[in-house]
Amino acid sequence: MHVVVVGGGIAGSAAALRLSGAGHDVTLLESSPALGGLVVSFEIGGTPLECFYHHIFPNESEILRLIEEGGLSSSLSWLPSTMGVLTGGRVWPFTSPLDVLRFGPLKPLQRLQLGAGALRLMRWRSWEPLDDTRASDWLRRTTGAGAVRELWEPLLRAKFGPAAPGVPAAWMWGRFQQRAAARKSGGEVLGYLRGGFRQLFESLDGRLRVAGVDVRLGARVREVDITDGVARGVTTVDGTSIPADVVLYTGAMPGIKAIVPADHHDPRWNGSGLGVICVVIETDRPVTDVYWTNVCDDELPFGGLIEHTNMVPTADYGGRHVTYLSRYFTSDEEIAKADPAVEAERWLDALAERLPSFDRSSVRAVHPFRAPYAAPLVDLGYGKRIAPMRTEVGGLFVCTTAQIYPHDRGMNEGVVMGQRAADEILAAQPQAVA
Ligand SMILES: Cc1cc2nc3c(=O)[nH]c(=O)nc-3n(C[C@H](O)[C@H](O)[C@H](O)COP(=O)(O)OP(=O)(O)OC[C@H]3O[C@@H](n4cnc5c(N)ncnc54)[C@H](O)[C@@H]3O)c2cc1C
Repeated sequence: MHVVVVGGGIAGSAAALRLSGAGHDVTLLESSPALGGLVVSFEIGGTPLECFYHHIFPNESEILRLIEEGGLSSSLSWLPSTMGVLTGGRVWPFTSPLDVLRFGPLKPLQRLQLGAGALRLMRWRSWEPLDDTRASDWLRRTTGAGAVRELWEPLLRAKFGPAAPGVPAAWMWGRFQQRAAARKSGGEVLGYLRGGFRQLFESLDGRLRVAGVDVRLGARVREVDITDGVARGVTTVDGTSIPADVVLYTGAMPGIKAIVPADHHDPRWNGSGLGVICVVIETDRPVTDVYWTNVCDDELPFGGLIEHTNMVPTADYGGRHVTYLSRYFTSDEEIAKADPAVEAERWLDALAERLPSFDRSSVRAVHPFRAPYAAPLVDLGYGKRIAPMRTEVGGLFVCTTAQIYPHDRGMNEGVVMGQRAADEILAAQPQAVA
Protein backbone atom coordinates (compact mmCIF):
# COMPACT_ATOMS: atom_id res chain seq x y z
CA MET A 1 0.00 0.00 0.00
CA HIS A 2 1.18 3.55 -0.65
CA VAL A 3 -0.07 5.96 2.02
CA VAL A 4 0.20 9.72 1.75
CA VAL A 5 0.19 11.36 5.18
CA VAL A 6 -0.74 15.05 5.01
CA GLY A 7 0.82 16.98 7.92
CA GLY A 8 4.04 16.43 9.84
CA GLY A 9 3.00 17.42 13.35
CA ILE A 10 3.26 14.84 16.11
CA ALA A 11 0.18 12.90 14.92
CA GLY A 12 1.27 12.66 11.28
CA SER A 13 4.84 11.74 12.27
CA ALA A 14 3.63 9.00 14.64
CA ALA A 15 1.23 7.62 12.02
CA ALA A 16 3.92 7.59 9.32
CA LEU A 17 6.32 5.78 11.64
CA ARG A 18 3.78 3.06 12.43
CA LEU A 19 2.65 2.60 8.80
CA SER A 20 6.21 2.33 7.50
CA GLY A 21 7.01 -0.08 10.36
CA ALA A 22 4.16 -2.28 9.07
CA GLY A 23 5.91 -2.47 5.70
CA HIS A 24 3.97 0.10 3.67
CA ASP A 25 5.29 2.86 1.40
CA VAL A 26 4.70 6.21 3.05
CA THR A 27 5.02 9.77 1.76
CA LEU A 28 4.79 12.46 4.45
CA LEU A 29 3.90 15.93 3.17
CA GLU A 30 4.42 18.90 5.47
CA SER A 31 3.84 22.47 4.34
CA SER A 32 6.30 24.04 6.84
CA PRO A 33 10.08 23.85 6.48
CA ALA A 34 10.34 21.38 9.41
CA LEU A 35 8.30 18.73 11.18
CA GLY A 36 6.60 19.76 14.45
CA GLY A 37 3.31 21.52 13.67
CA LEU A 38 2.25 23.48 16.76
CA VAL A 39 5.50 22.50 18.46
CA VAL A 40 7.35 25.23 16.56
CA SER A 41 10.38 26.97 18.07
CA PHE A 42 12.59 30.02 18.00
CA GLU A 43 15.77 30.63 20.02
CA ILE A 44 16.75 32.50 23.17
CA GLY A 45 20.45 32.79 23.95
CA GLY A 46 21.13 30.14 21.26
CA THR A 47 18.74 27.60 22.86
CA PRO A 48 15.63 26.49 20.98
CA LEU A 49 12.41 27.29 22.85
CA GLU A 50 8.80 26.57 21.87
CA CYS A 51 6.81 29.57 20.58
CA PHE A 52 3.88 28.03 22.49
CA TYR A 53 4.71 26.68 25.99
CA HIS A 54 5.09 22.88 26.12
CA HIS A 55 5.65 20.40 28.94
CA ILE A 56 4.70 16.78 29.47
CA PHE A 57 3.12 14.85 32.33
CA PRO A 58 4.73 11.79 33.98
CA ASN A 59 1.91 9.46 32.87
CA GLU A 60 2.24 10.34 29.15
CA SER A 61 3.77 7.05 28.14
CA GLU A 62 3.54 7.36 24.34
CA ILE A 63 5.44 10.62 24.00
CA LEU A 64 7.94 9.32 26.56
CA ARG A 65 8.48 6.25 24.41
CA LEU A 66 9.21 8.42 21.34
CA ILE A 67 11.67 10.47 23.39
CA GLU A 68 13.42 7.30 24.53
CA GLU A 69 13.48 5.71 21.07
CA GLY A 70 14.92 8.95 19.72
CA GLY A 71 17.84 8.63 22.15
CA LEU A 72 16.79 11.80 23.98
CA SER A 73 16.09 10.48 27.49
CA SER A 74 19.22 12.12 28.90
CA SER A 75 17.86 15.55 27.88
CA LEU A 76 14.54 14.98 29.62
CA SER A 77 14.28 16.61 33.05
CA TRP A 78 11.49 16.12 35.56
CA LEU A 79 11.10 19.43 37.34
CA PRO A 80 8.94 20.52 40.26
CA SER A 81 6.09 22.71 39.06
CA THR A 82 4.03 25.19 40.99
CA MET A 83 0.67 26.83 40.29
CA GLY A 84 -0.80 30.17 41.21
CA VAL A 85 -3.87 32.32 40.68
CA LEU A 86 -3.49 35.99 39.82
CA THR A 87 -6.33 38.05 41.24
CA GLY A 88 -6.61 41.31 43.16
CA GLY A 89 -3.07 42.42 42.26
CA ARG A 90 -1.23 39.41 43.62
CA VAL A 91 -0.42 35.80 42.78
CA TRP A 92 -1.92 33.32 45.25
CA PRO A 93 -0.10 29.97 45.52
CA PHE A 94 -2.39 27.20 44.27
CA THR A 95 -0.29 24.02 44.17
CA SER A 96 -1.22 22.04 47.28
CA PRO A 97 -4.45 21.35 49.21
CA LEU A 98 -3.05 23.65 51.90
CA ASP A 99 -2.83 26.46 49.30
CA VAL A 100 -6.53 25.95 48.53
CA LEU A 101 -7.32 26.28 52.25
CA ARG A 102 -5.37 29.56 52.33
CA PHE A 103 -6.85 31.03 49.12
CA GLY A 104 -7.80 34.51 50.32
CA PRO A 105 -10.40 35.48 47.66
CA LEU A 106 -12.73 32.78 49.11
CA LYS A 107 -14.24 32.63 52.60
CA PRO A 108 -12.98 29.73 54.79
CA LEU A 109 -16.13 27.63 54.26
CA GLN A 110 -15.97 28.19 50.50
CA ARG A 111 -12.33 27.01 50.50
CA LEU A 112 -13.33 23.77 52.24
CA GLN A 113 -16.15 23.25 49.76
CA LEU A 114 -13.74 23.84 46.85
CA GLY A 115 -11.09 21.45 48.23
CA ALA A 116 -13.56 18.66 48.95
CA GLY A 117 -15.32 19.17 45.62
CA ALA A 118 -12.08 19.08 43.63
CA LEU A 119 -11.14 15.76 45.25
CA ARG A 120 -14.53 14.35 44.29
CA LEU A 121 -14.18 15.57 40.71
CA MET A 122 -10.82 13.87 40.30
CA ARG A 123 -12.48 10.54 41.16
CA TRP A 124 -15.52 11.04 38.90
CA ARG A 125 -15.73 8.01 36.59
CA SER A 126 -17.70 8.62 33.39
CA TRP A 127 -17.86 11.68 31.18
CA GLU A 128 -20.75 10.82 28.81
CA PRO A 129 -23.52 12.20 31.07
CA LEU A 130 -21.47 15.42 31.40
CA ASP A 131 -21.41 16.08 27.65
CA ASP A 132 -24.75 17.94 27.82
CA THR A 133 -24.11 19.69 31.16
CA ARG A 134 -22.54 23.13 31.39
CA ALA A 135 -19.15 23.08 33.11
CA SER A 136 -20.10 26.02 35.34
CA ASP A 137 -23.32 24.26 36.53
CA TRP A 138 -21.42 21.07 37.37
CA LEU A 139 -18.70 23.00 39.17
CA ARG A 140 -21.26 25.06 41.09
CA ARG A 141 -22.98 21.89 42.34
CA THR A 142 -19.72 20.25 43.38
CA THR A 143 -17.41 23.07 44.48
CA GLY A 144 -19.80 25.90 45.37
CA ALA A 145 -20.93 29.24 43.90
CA GLY A 146 -17.99 31.18 45.38
CA ALA A 147 -15.42 29.01 43.63
CA VAL A 148 -17.29 29.33 40.34
CA ARG A 149 -17.37 33.12 40.61
CA GLU A 150 -13.76 33.64 41.78
CA LEU A 151 -12.02 30.80 39.97
CA TRP A 152 -13.80 28.62 37.43
CA GLU A 153 -15.69 31.26 35.45
CA PRO A 154 -12.62 33.51 35.01
CA LEU A 155 -10.65 30.39 33.97
CA LEU A 156 -13.25 29.31 31.44
CA ARG A 157 -13.49 32.88 30.10
CA ALA A 158 -9.71 32.99 29.78
CA LYS A 159 -9.68 29.81 27.71
CA PHE A 160 -12.92 30.10 25.73
CA GLY A 161 -13.76 33.83 25.68
CA PRO A 162 -17.40 34.46 24.75
CA ALA A 163 -17.96 30.68 24.24
CA ALA A 164 -17.23 29.94 27.94
CA PRO A 165 -20.89 29.50 29.04
CA GLY A 166 -21.36 26.67 26.52
CA VAL A 167 -18.33 24.60 27.53
CA PRO A 168 -19.43 21.10 28.54
CA ALA A 169 -18.61 19.65 31.95
CA ALA A 170 -17.07 16.68 30.09
CA TRP A 171 -14.20 18.95 28.96
CA MET A 172 -13.57 19.96 32.56
CA TRP A 173 -13.78 16.28 33.57
CA GLY A 174 -10.94 15.59 31.13
CA ARG A 175 -8.75 18.22 32.85
CA PHE A 176 -9.41 16.71 36.29
CA GLN A 177 -8.62 13.22 34.99
CA GLN A 178 -5.33 14.42 33.52
CA ARG A 179 -4.30 16.02 36.80
CA ALA A 180 -5.35 12.98 38.83
CA ALA A 181 -3.43 10.56 36.56
CA ALA A 182 -0.33 12.77 36.57
CA ARG A 183 -0.45 13.12 40.34
CA LYS A 184 -0.68 9.34 40.80
CA SER A 185 2.38 8.66 38.66
CA GLY A 186 4.73 11.45 39.63
CA GLY A 187 3.36 14.11 41.95
CA GLU A 188 3.75 17.75 41.00
CA VAL A 189 6.53 17.37 38.47
CA LEU A 190 6.46 18.13 34.77
CA GLY A 191 8.79 16.94 32.03
CA TYR A 192 10.76 19.22 29.74
CA LEU A 193 13.21 18.29 27.03
CA ARG A 194 16.19 20.51 27.86
CA GLY A 195 17.28 22.25 24.67
CA GLY A 196 13.71 22.19 23.35
CA PHE A 197 11.19 19.75 21.90
CA ARG A 198 12.61 20.61 18.48
CA GLN A 199 15.08 17.79 19.14
CA LEU A 200 12.22 15.29 19.24
CA PHE A 201 11.10 16.30 15.75
CA GLU A 202 14.66 16.27 14.42
CA SER A 203 14.97 12.71 15.72
CA LEU A 204 11.60 11.78 14.18
CA ASP A 205 12.65 13.26 10.84
CA GLY A 206 15.81 11.12 10.91
CA ARG A 207 13.98 7.94 11.98
CA LEU A 208 11.29 8.37 9.34
CA ARG A 209 13.86 8.75 6.57
CA VAL A 210 15.85 5.75 7.79
CA ALA A 211 12.58 3.76 7.77
CA GLY A 212 12.19 4.68 4.09
CA VAL A 213 9.48 7.33 4.46
CA ASP A 214 9.59 9.94 1.71
CA VAL A 215 9.52 13.06 3.92
CA ARG A 216 8.80 16.18 1.87
CA LEU A 217 9.03 19.51 3.69
CA GLY A 218 7.63 22.73 2.26
CA ALA A 219 5.03 20.60 0.45
CA ARG A 220 1.48 21.91 0.93
CA VAL A 221 -1.37 19.74 -0.29
CA ARG A 222 -3.88 21.69 -2.36
CA GLU A 223 -6.35 18.92 -3.06
CA VAL A 224 -7.22 15.33 -2.32
CA ASP A 225 -7.84 13.71 -5.72
CA ILE A 226 -11.13 11.81 -5.57
CA THR A 227 -12.59 9.69 -8.38
CA ASP A 228 -15.79 7.64 -8.02
CA GLY A 229 -15.91 8.37 -4.29
CA VAL A 230 -12.41 7.03 -3.68
CA ALA A 231 -9.25 9.02 -2.78
CA ARG A 232 -6.63 8.29 -5.46
CA GLY A 233 -3.89 10.60 -4.19
CA VAL A 234 -3.15 14.28 -3.63
CA THR A 235 -1.97 17.31 -5.58
CA THR A 236 0.37 19.82 -3.96
CA VAL A 237 0.25 23.59 -4.51
CA ASP A 238 3.11 23.38 -7.03
CA GLY A 239 0.96 21.03 -9.13
CA THR A 240 2.74 17.77 -8.28
CA SER A 241 0.34 14.80 -8.29
CA ILE A 242 1.13 11.99 -5.89
CA PRO A 243 -0.93 8.84 -6.41
CA ALA A 244 -1.83 6.88 -3.28
CA ASP A 245 -3.97 3.98 -2.09
CA VAL A 246 -4.75 5.78 1.16
CA VAL A 247 -4.63 9.45 2.20
CA LEU A 248 -4.42 10.34 5.89
CA TYR A 249 -5.05 14.00 6.79
CA THR A 250 -3.54 15.13 10.12
CA GLY A 251 -3.76 18.96 9.95
CA ALA A 252 -6.23 21.12 11.88
CA MET A 253 -9.86 20.05 11.36
CA PRO A 254 -11.02 23.12 9.35
CA GLY A 255 -8.18 22.49 6.85
CA ILE A 256 -9.73 19.25 5.56
CA LYS A 257 -12.59 21.18 3.97
CA ALA A 258 -10.11 23.27 1.99
CA ILE A 259 -8.58 20.24 0.30
CA VAL A 260 -11.59 17.96 -0.19
CA PRO A 261 -14.25 18.93 -2.79
CA ALA A 262 -17.43 20.23 -1.11
CA ASP A 263 -19.70 17.37 -2.23
CA HIS A 264 -17.63 15.00 -0.06
CA HIS A 265 -17.71 17.07 3.15
CA ASP A 266 -18.92 15.47 6.36
CA PRO A 267 -21.00 17.94 8.47
CA ARG A 268 -19.00 16.76 11.49
CA TRP A 269 -15.96 18.53 9.99
CA ASN A 270 -17.72 21.88 10.57
CA GLY A 271 -16.63 22.63 14.13
CA SER A 272 -14.56 25.73 14.71
CA GLY A 273 -11.42 26.26 16.72
CA LEU A 274 -9.70 28.48 19.23
CA GLY A 275 -6.74 30.53 18.12
CA VAL A 276 -4.01 31.62 20.50
CA ILE A 277 -1.56 34.49 20.92
CA CYS A 278 1.49 33.73 23.02
CA VAL A 279 3.82 36.55 23.94
CA VAL A 280 7.20 35.34 25.18
CA ILE A 281 9.09 37.88 27.26
CA GLU A 282 12.72 37.82 28.30
CA THR A 283 13.34 39.65 31.56
CA ASP A 284 16.36 40.14 33.76
CA ARG A 285 14.28 39.38 36.88
CA PRO A 286 11.55 36.85 37.66
CA VAL A 287 7.97 38.03 37.05
CA THR A 288 6.41 35.74 39.69
CA ASP A 289 7.65 32.84 41.80
CA VAL A 290 5.43 30.13 40.29
CA TYR A 291 5.50 28.19 36.99
CA TRP A 292 1.83 28.24 35.96
CA THR A 293 -0.41 31.17 36.88
CA ASN A 294 -4.08 31.23 35.97
CA VAL A 295 -5.11 34.83 35.45
CA CYS A 296 -8.48 35.43 37.12
CA ASP A 297 -8.51 39.21 36.66
CA ASP A 298 -10.90 40.39 33.94
CA GLU A 299 -8.92 43.63 33.58
CA LEU A 300 -5.94 41.66 32.23
CA PRO A 301 -6.19 40.91 28.51
CA PHE A 302 -4.57 37.46 28.76
CA GLY A 303 -5.52 34.30 30.65
CA GLY A 304 -2.25 32.47 31.35
CA LEU A 305 1.15 33.50 32.66
CA ILE A 306 3.59 30.62 32.35
CA GLU A 307 6.98 31.39 33.76
CA HIS A 308 9.12 28.80 32.01
CA THR A 309 12.25 29.62 34.00
CA ASN A 310 10.46 28.97 37.28
CA MET A 311 10.72 25.36 36.15
CA VAL A 312 13.68 25.20 33.73
CA PRO A 313 16.86 26.94 34.96
CA THR A 314 17.68 30.38 33.52
CA ALA A 315 21.18 29.07 32.72
CA ASP A 316 19.62 27.28 29.71
CA TYR A 317 18.80 30.72 28.26
CA GLY A 318 21.95 32.70 28.97
CA GLY A 319 20.62 33.82 32.37
CA ARG A 320 17.40 35.31 30.98
CA HIS A 321 14.05 34.76 32.72
CA VAL A 322 11.50 33.54 30.21
CA THR A 323 7.72 33.98 30.60
CA TYR A 324 4.79 33.22 28.29
CA LEU A 325 1.62 35.35 28.38
CA SER A 326 -1.17 33.57 26.54
CA ARG A 327 -4.65 34.34 25.32
CA TYR A 328 -6.98 32.00 23.44
CA PHE A 329 -9.65 33.52 21.18
CA THR A 330 -12.60 32.55 19.01
CA SER A 331 -12.62 33.64 15.37
CA ASP A 332 -15.32 36.29 15.92
CA GLU A 333 -13.42 38.18 18.63
CA GLU A 334 -11.61 41.43 17.78
CA ILE A 335 -8.30 40.00 18.92
CA ALA A 336 -8.48 37.36 16.17
CA LYS A 337 -7.48 40.10 13.71
CA ALA A 338 -5.13 42.03 16.02
CA ASP A 339 -1.42 42.39 15.41
CA PRO A 340 0.30 40.21 18.08
CA ALA A 341 3.13 42.75 18.42
CA VAL A 342 0.64 45.54 19.25
CA GLU A 343 -1.20 43.20 21.64
CA ALA A 344 2.11 42.40 23.38
CA GLU A 345 2.68 46.07 24.27
CA ARG A 346 -0.88 46.43 25.58
CA TRP A 347 -0.53 43.25 27.66
CA LEU A 348 2.73 44.37 29.25
CA ASP A 349 1.27 47.78 30.14
CA ALA A 350 -1.74 46.04 31.69
CA LEU A 351 0.44 43.61 33.63
CA ALA A 352 2.51 46.46 35.07
CA GLU A 353 -0.69 48.16 36.16
CA ARG A 354 -2.44 45.12 37.67
CA LEU A 355 0.55 43.32 39.20
CA PRO A 356 2.55 46.01 41.03
CA SER A 357 5.47 43.61 41.65
CA PHE A 358 6.10 43.41 37.86
CA ASP A 359 8.66 45.93 36.68
CA ARG A 360 8.20 46.84 33.00
CA SER A 361 11.83 48.00 32.79
CA SER A 362 13.02 44.42 33.45
CA VAL A 363 11.81 43.39 29.97
CA ARG A 364 14.74 42.82 27.61
CA ALA A 365 12.97 41.30 24.61
CA VAL A 366 9.43 40.51 23.46
CA HIS A 367 8.51 37.71 21.02
CA PRO A 368 4.85 37.63 19.95
CA PHE A 369 3.38 34.52 18.21
CA ARG A 370 -0.04 33.56 16.94
CA ALA A 371 -1.60 30.24 15.93
CA PRO A 372 -4.97 30.59 14.17
CA TYR A 373 -6.05 27.10 15.29
CA ALA A 374 -4.67 25.97 18.64
CA ALA A 375 -7.46 23.68 19.86
CA PRO A 376 -11.03 22.71 18.95
CA LEU A 377 -13.85 24.85 20.32
CA VAL A 378 -16.04 22.45 22.29
CA ASP A 379 -19.71 23.03 23.09
CA LEU A 380 -22.65 21.12 24.60
CA GLY A 381 -23.14 17.71 22.99
CA TYR A 382 -19.73 17.88 21.28
CA GLY A 383 -18.99 14.23 22.10
CA LYS A 384 -21.88 13.11 19.88
CA ARG A 385 -20.66 15.09 16.85
CA ILE A 386 -17.07 13.87 16.59
CA ALA A 387 -16.13 12.78 13.07
CA PRO A 388 -14.82 9.22 12.72
CA MET A 389 -11.27 8.73 11.43
CA ARG A 390 -12.47 6.70 8.48
CA THR A 391 -14.43 9.04 6.19
CA GLU A 392 -17.21 8.33 3.68
CA VAL A 393 -14.62 8.75 0.91
CA GLY A 394 -12.90 5.43 0.23
CA GLY A 395 -9.26 5.47 1.32
CA LEU A 396 -9.50 8.87 3.07
CA PHE A 397 -8.80 9.04 6.81
CA VAL A 398 -8.80 12.05 9.13
CA CYS A 399 -6.92 12.34 12.42
CA THR A 400 -7.07 15.72 14.17
CA THR A 401 -7.07 17.31 17.60
CA ALA A 402 -10.84 17.87 17.18
CA GLN A 403 -11.37 14.11 17.66
CA ILE A 404 -9.58 13.74 21.02
CA TYR A 405 -12.42 15.00 23.27
CA PRO A 406 -13.05 14.85 26.19
CA HIS A 407 -9.31 14.50 26.71
CA ASP A 408 -7.22 17.58 26.01
CA ARG A 409 -5.13 17.84 22.91
CA GLY A 410 -1.42 17.40 23.61
CA MET A 411 1.66 15.76 22.15
CA ASN A 412 0.97 12.46 23.91
CA GLU A 413 -2.62 12.35 22.65
CA GLY A 414 -1.26 13.27 19.20
CA VAL A 415 0.93 10.14 19.21
CA VAL A 416 -1.98 8.01 20.45
CA MET A 417 -4.28 9.39 17.73
CA GLY A 418 -1.68 9.03 14.97
CA GLN A 419 -1.04 5.42 15.93
CA ARG A 420 -4.77 4.74 16.14
CA ALA A 421 -5.27 6.19 12.66
CA ALA A 422 -2.46 3.97 11.34
CA ASP A 423 -4.05 0.93 12.99
CA GLU A 424 -7.45 1.77 11.45
CA ILE A 425 -5.82 2.02 8.03
CA LEU A 426 -4.03 -1.29 8.52
CA ALA A 427 -7.23 -2.97 9.73
CA ALA A 428 -9.24 -1.55 6.82
CA GLN A 429 -6.97 -2.77 4.04
CA PRO A 430 -7.62 -4.03 1.45
CA GLN A 431 -11.10 -2.44 1.82
CA ALA A 432 -9.42 0.96 2.38
CA VAL A 433 -8.32 0.65 -1.22
CA ALA A 434 -11.91 0.42 -2.45
C1 LIG B 1 -0.45 27.40 23.31
C2 LIG B 1 -0.30 25.91 23.24
C3 LIG B 1 0.22 25.24 24.32
C4 LIG B 1 0.36 23.85 24.30
N1 LIG B 1 0.90 23.22 25.36
C5 LIG B 1 1.11 21.89 25.31
C6 LIG B 1 1.80 21.24 26.35
O1 LIG B 1 2.21 21.84 27.34
N2 LIG B 1 1.99 19.90 26.26
C7 LIG B 1 1.54 19.17 25.18
O2 LIG B 1 1.77 17.97 25.12
N3 LIG B 1 0.88 19.78 24.16
C8 LIG B 1 0.66 21.11 24.21
N4 LIG B 1 0.01 21.73 23.18
C9 LIG B 1 -0.69 20.92 22.18
C10 LIG B 1 0.18 20.32 21.12
O3 LIG B 1 1.07 21.26 20.57
C11 LIG B 1 -0.74 19.79 20.03
O4 LIG B 1 -1.77 19.04 20.59
C12 LIG B 1 -0.04 18.91 19.05
O5 LIG B 1 1.16 19.48 18.64
C13 LIG B 1 -0.95 18.69 17.85
O6 LIG B 1 -0.29 17.88 16.92
P1 LIG B 1 -0.99 17.48 15.55
O7 LIG B 1 0.00 16.69 14.79
O8 LIG B 1 -2.31 16.86 15.81
O9 LIG B 1 -1.33 18.84 14.81
P2 LIG B 1 -0.40 20.05 14.37
O10 LIG B 1 0.70 20.24 15.33
O11 LIG B 1 -1.32 21.19 14.09
O12 LIG B 1 0.26 19.55 13.01
C14 LIG B 1 -0.46 19.53 11.80
C15 LIG B 1 0.54 19.73 10.68
O13 LIG B 1 -0.16 19.58 9.43
C16 LIG B 1 0.40 20.50 8.52
N5 LIG B 1 -0.59 20.71 7.45
C17 LIG B 1 -1.88 21.13 7.59
N6 LIG B 1 -2.47 21.19 6.38
C18 LIG B 1 -1.56 20.80 5.46
C19 LIG B 1 -1.59 20.67 4.05
N7 LIG B 1 -2.70 20.98 3.33
N8 LIG B 1 -0.47 20.23 3.40
C20 LIG B 1 0.65 19.91 4.12
N9 LIG B 1 0.74 20.05 5.48
C21 LIG B 1 -0.36 20.48 6.14
C22 LIG B 1 0.66 21.74 9.35
O14 LIG B 1 1.62 22.57 8.74
C23 LIG B 1 1.16 21.12 10.66
O15 LIG B 1 2.55 21.01 10.68
C24 LIG B 1 -0.09 23.11 23.17
C25 LIG B 1 -0.60 23.80 22.06
C26 LIG B 1 -0.70 25.19 22.09
C27 LIG B 1 -1.23 25.90 20.89
